[in-house]
Amino acid sequence: MRVDILGIGVDALSMAECAARIAGAVEAHSRLRVVTANPEMICAAGKDPDLRRVINSAGLVTADGVGVVWAAARLGTPVPERVTGIDLLEALFPLASRRHWRIFLLGARPGVAAEAARRVGESCSGIVWEASHGYFEPAEETDVIKRIGDFKPDLLLAGLGAPRQEFWLAEHEGLATVSIGVGGSFDTLAGTVGRAPAWLREMRLEWLYRLLKEPWRWRRQAVLPRFVFKVWRER
Ligand code: UDP
Repeated sequence: MRVDILGIGVDALSMAECAARIAGAVEAHSRLRVVTANPEMICAAGKDPDLRRVINSAGLVTADGVGVVWAAARLGTPVPERVTGIDLLEALFPLASRRHWRIFLLGARPGVAAEAARRVGESCSGIVWEASHGYFEPAEETDVIKRIGDFKPDLLLAGLGAPRQEFWLAEHEGLATVSIGVGGSFDTLAGTVGRAPAWLREMRLEWLYRLLKEPWRWRRQAVLPRFVFKVWRER
């Protein structure tokens, strides 16, 4: 079931159900594009019909963040829990390791995606990796696309920043069986950016931790009150 949040359809699925849907698609070679929709993206989509179309046409749209979970409940159509990109990846890697998935990491600064693959590979050894940074020039894009196409990924993870990664994956849908826009996840996996401690995550305060670590985020997080107000008014 999809829940409508300010014009964006979010799947009312738990973390485990989302991971199972993705794993099922990989194993069945059935194409699936995944968007992890956070409040910023939902607000941006309110002003951008192209972004709205790209998100709503994805096969799986997860509730990325406490704000989205709150909004769903407030609108009377609750979703089970928040499903972020990084949590999804952490759920999928052990399975990918057992099933020897081919995973292409596209995005982040040069070297970061490769380091993320190396680190994850230490505990999940069966995965076949390829990586490419996300700062390619328009003239280099054809090469990037060819590399991905030649690699034939089961899973293409794009960490190019939202909403660029969402547009990019929608435009290049045929490149992989399953594709997911994962934002800054490679930085976290590579250890470039630390994750909030578990107790803070449990208190649903990961956003605060990130704000303190990366203060430039305040501008982006300033969208949250607007999101809350819009949802509150909609109800
Ligand atoms: N990024 C990229 N190419 C660009 C701009 C950004 O690969 O031209 C990467 C950036 O290095 C970082 C990620 O996109 O790894 C940030 O994405 P976003 O801000 O959506 O992630 P969030 O921090 O919200 O998870």
